[in-house]
Amino acid sequence: MTNAVLHVADVHKSFGGLRALSDIDLQIVEGTTHAIIGPNGAGKSTLLNVCIGRIAPDTGAVVFDGEVITGKRPHEINQMGIVRVFQTPEIFPDLTLLQNVMVPAFAKRDGAFRLNAFRGTDGETEIREEAEHWLADVGLAGYKDTQAASLSRGDKRRLELAMGLVQRPRLLLLDEPTAGMSRHDTNSTIDLLKKIKARGMTKVIIEHDMHVVFSLADRVTVLAQGRIIADGTPEEVRRSAVVQEAYLGG
Ligand code: ADP
Ligand code: MG
Repeated sequence: MTNAVLHVADVHKSFGGLRALSDIDLQIVEGTTHAIIGPNGAGKSTLLNVCIGRIAPDTGAVVFDGEVITGKRPHEINQMGIVRVFQTPEIFPDLTLLQNVMVPAFAKRDGAFRLNAFRGTDGETEIREEAEHWLADVGLAGYKDTQAASLSRGDKRRLELAMGLVQRPRLLLLDEPTAGMSRHDTNSTIDLLKKIKARGMTKVIIEHDMHVVFSLADRVTVLAQGRIIADGTPEEVRRSAVVQEAYLGG
């Protein structure tokens, strides 16, 4: 027995004639930060989408905490504790930051994702306090009544992270947390993710920025053309000849 929280077992996925994922076998170990890297089009987002039930694999299975989750609906998988953030902005621009974080907090309790459904409900105060806690955790306490639309790109990512954390995930999936960020915002995101890592949360990070990968990951899997071409510690992967050639550019 391994202590894998998530096991992607022999997954294949084609889009028409394009093999987006071939023969993927991957285990995410409890408490680790696991990076998935690879060039554009390698299949990284497809792999995450398979894990959260947005894309059905052609063959193979995803096992979460010992239970096969392949075929379950995205909201069921989310309810079981797999939370994905980033890449597509999924904040509510017209709501305040506090309201943005209250929506998933309420959804976690209620099982349904409804805008403003928390208004006037039992437990609204409790949910508000929880949302305030996670906003403070990501460094946005001072902006709780600000409209989300007015945030900088870096702060929008922080808000999304708070919206993920308020769900108290068992497994947090981050799709390119620093994409398009300045070096300053990237560094502050690394610090925030390190803080979360120190709490022992299991995370999968898809990331292009090698600085981010090597500062955060315990384990790295390299994808290219839908296949795993290397897997190991950051040092092992960095030294791997196949990775140097295929991805890091020699
Ligand atoms: P990455 O996230 O590593 O950049 P993706 O998983 O987004 O890669 O894409 C892998 C490949 O699958 C790419 O060639 C992409 O064009 C293709 N692809 C992804 N999603 C779809 C889709 N829904 N329909 C058709 N092709 C897709
Ligand atoms: Mg992608």
